[in-house]
Amino acid sequence: MSNVLLLSLTFVAPGLALHAADFQIAKPTEFRQCVPADATVTKLAGDFTFTEGPTWIKAGGFLVFSDIPKDELKQWKPAGGTTTYRQPSYNANGNTTDPDGRLITCEHSGRRVALQEKSGTVRTLVDSFEGKKFNSPNDVVVKSDGTVWFTDPDYGLKTNPATKQKEGREQPGNFVYRHDPKSGTTTALVKDFVNPNGLAFSPDEKKLYVADSGTPKHIRVFDVKADGTVSGGQVFCKIDPGAPDGIRVDKAGRVWSSAGDGVQIFAPDGSLVGKILVPESPANLCFGGDDGRTLFITARKSLYSIKVAVAGAGR
Ligand code: MG
Repeated sequence: MSNVLLLSLTFVAPGLALHAADFQIAKPTEFRQCVPADATVTKLAGDFTFTEGPTWIKAGGFLVFSDIPKDELKQWKPAGGTTTYRQPSYNANGNTTDPDGRLITCEHSGRRVALQEKSGTVRTLVDSFEGKKFNSPNDVVVKSDGTVWFTDPDYGLKTNPATKQKEGREQPGNFVYRHDPKSGTTTALVKDFVNPNGLAFSPDEKKLYVADSGTPKHIRVFDVKADGTVSGGQVFCKIDPGAPDGIRVDKAGRVWSSAGDGVQIFAPDGSLVGKILVPESPANLCFGGDDGRTLFITARKSLYSIKVAVAGAGR
């Protein structure tokens, strides 16, 4: 891309910064509103199997994330590093919190979206639609009204080596759902994704962004209607290299997406602002830290962070 200014900073800060910060900057002024010039990508922990689903637990001041194949939820604290938070996790993937600060988790092998009460008790929030089990809930976001929006691709189902078919599938497709815990109602909102994955609301919750990590490798944007359904769904941006997995929106309405080469940041009009290059391919990310201005990145076998100049939208 001709308008991309490649900045490769060879300076490595002393202390924890293990990697020089590498950025590809398409819009220098706006990129600096996202990432300070002196920011560096820091490897916080490694030797995991496959990391996903980071979410910042505000009340506790710590990060929770998934090691999917290891069947564990992990916890990272600014002082104290990484410990096991919950095991088994039923191959937990995406995590978020509800308006009460409770942890909400998508489970591959549990084939459900689970809620952890403040007491620590974990219970099923929803595990079926129209009497059929979900495929393998992947990622989740909770709207300020408490409704739970999640995706259900088939990545967590085993493929039969002979037939190449997914085993145990009950749903006729890979859908985007909305679950209302108050009424117990679950609605299939969008049915034409190949493999819907990360999802996030705009700051005013009038738009919903959903990644398709299947063959389209793009992010679509929907208008959220007052009745909780969505319309539209045009392509917002393409991700290259790799595919979009987890996505987040910042307070200014920019979309931050995982990609093969790192974290790619898009302006609200869908144009590329720039990229934070990461040594391993990120699958997900979240804003957190005391001031909400640390970006945590789960990337293959490791957990990374970088100080950023803006906080995330929502909680
Ligand atoms: Mg995902």
